[in-house]
Amino acid sequence: MLVKPKPIWRWLPILLAATLACNTLAPTPAAPTRAAATPTELGPAATAVTALPSPTATALPATATAAPTETPTLAATPTELGQAVAPSVGYQLSPASVHFHPDPQLYSGDIVSIEVVADDAPQNWSGAAVRLYIGERGEEPLARVNFTRYGLGGRLQATFTWVWDTAGRSGPQTVILVVSPGPVAGETTPPEQELTLSVNLLPSEARPQPEPEAQWAEAESACCLFHYLTGTAAARDIDVIRAQADAAFAHVAATLGVTSEQKVGFTLVSRLLGHGGFASSEISLSYLDRNPAVTELFSVFAHEGTHLLDRQIATVRPTMMVEGLAVYVAGGHFKTEPLDARAAAVLALDRYIPLADLANGFYPAQHEIGYLEAGAFINYLVERDGWETFKGMYATFQSAPTDAAMLDAALRAHYGVTLADLEAEWLAYLRAQPADPAQVEDLRLTVALFDTLRRYQQLKDPAAYFLSAWLPDGREARRRNIVGDFVRHPLAPDNIALEAMLDAAGMHLHAGEYAPAADLLAAVNAALDADDLHAAPLAADYLRVVEQLAAAGYEVQALRLDGPTALVSAIRAWPTLETLTLTEAAGGDWQITAGN
Ligand SMILES: [Zn+2]
Repeated sequence: MLVKPKPIWRWLPILLAATLACNTLAPTPAAPTRAAATPTELGPAATAVTALPSPTATALPATATAAPTETPTLAATPTELGQAVAPSVGYQLSPASVHFHPDPQLYSGDIVSIEVVADDAPQNWSGAAVRLYIGERGEEPLARVNFTRYGLGGRLQATFTWVWDTAGRSGPQTVILVVSPGPVAGETTPPEQELTLSVNLLPSEARPQPEPEAQWAEAESACCLFHYLTGTAAARDIDVIRAQADAAFAHVAATLGVTSEQKVGFTLVSRLLGHGGFASSEISLSYLDRNPAVTELFSVFAHEGTHLLDRQIATVRPTMMVEGLAVYVAGGHFKTEPLDARAAAVLALDRYIPLADLANGFYPAQHEIGYLEAGAFINYLVERDGWETFKGMYATFQSAPTDAAMLDAALRAHYGVTLADLEAEWLAYLRAQPADPAQVEDLRLTVALFDTLRRYQQLKDPAAYFLSAWLPDGREARRRNIVGDFVRHPLAPDNIALEAMLDAAGMHLHAGEYAPAADLLAAVNAALDADDLHAAPLAADYLRVVEQLAAAGYEVQALRLDGPTALVSAIRAWPTLETLTLTEAAGGDWQITAGN
């Protein structure tokens, strides 16, 4: 099916900007099923809950830092040199386990963080101490931390947050990590493992735009306080952001029947992390132009605002109900959507997740299906017995061994029915809904889009993958004037082209144009399969346009191909968007034939 393209500028202004589908980020979930349910993790009393746990690294006095011994013969990238010097039985730390931030490249002057991942290590690594040395292994390390569970995925890692100030250094640097695994019952204490890496610091002035100009700035609205970086898309659009947030928070307050007791803090991040939103005591929101997780700003703010304001109603509640309430109040997950018809489409696609399973493993469940089911279930409860009955239940959840048990007990108390019986009743109601083929196709492609986005992140931008996203604390960053972690991200032509394809697929979906959305997703997956964009002609075309515009000084933000015509929005002078038209000439060259 050929779909007539819309002019690119109709895609651009507000829709391009934001993102959705937050996770309420728990600092250190012990088990994914209970990640965000406990009051200390989400409750308002939790002061300065950091997106990632506060650094447990003990930064030692500067005088204790071993003087750097340059080793210029070392390889230039962290993965090329690693060697386990003191092998011990079993698990081996490898260079691939070590992630430097901000990524994907370090520059002189960065305040560097390091994650040492040992997710499949044996039990005696849990809690094991890691020491970090720079240059050479002296008497005192630069910092030491212990392995612990991190992030939504509960990954076992040692996290050195902002411990290494590289001011005054450049070129190859030696980084030494020493792990002291814990004792194993019945055996002698295992030997230490030492891993030596080389990491290259590029000159500070080589940092790509807009980072060199980016400084923390603030803007207030009636509801919120926004922290953003100058020179970014958020700075350009801050007035729109303020207005949309106020409208959404007013809607949330009216729906929940509570008012915000204080202004809500947002850190606007100039790179996509996860699906774009993480809520703790403040909210981190990705705001950027080339954004595969695109949706209306209003929905984002309504979703995240619900997470903050619902804490005035309750602090103990199942994660499924926390996220479901945000979907219900926002009127949809990725966009305003008919929740009943959407949930019926879940059944039509045979993707339904039983509610007890979903309640007990909300974040690990298929993301789009889980959020949708949770929102639609709450919609059904409200339609069935009214808002006050629902709110009465929501306000009085009692702690239970599992989230499903917590929900079951609450339903018995307030609705006089078990979770199983209410679920059966709801399913019968959904099955009686008239079939809507467009909703089924829309949902199928929505799931495919986000599955593909997550696959892209795992393979090409791992720090952005939602279960292990690198999201340090905004307040601490502002205090120390650190910006790199909030703006830097992979900018290789492959990354830009694949992100632009996902972004275009999302825009087609929003417009109900299913065939071109499906074509784009198939091309992205083919390119990821082959690790080569030339494996799919459509991806190769995107790459060629991205490369030719890069040669002319542009970073592509949105790109739509229509035969020999490319409609593009791109940035040459941050953060001003320019609209360009390119035409394919003989030999596959694309030439700019119109500008804005
Ligand atoms: Zn959420």
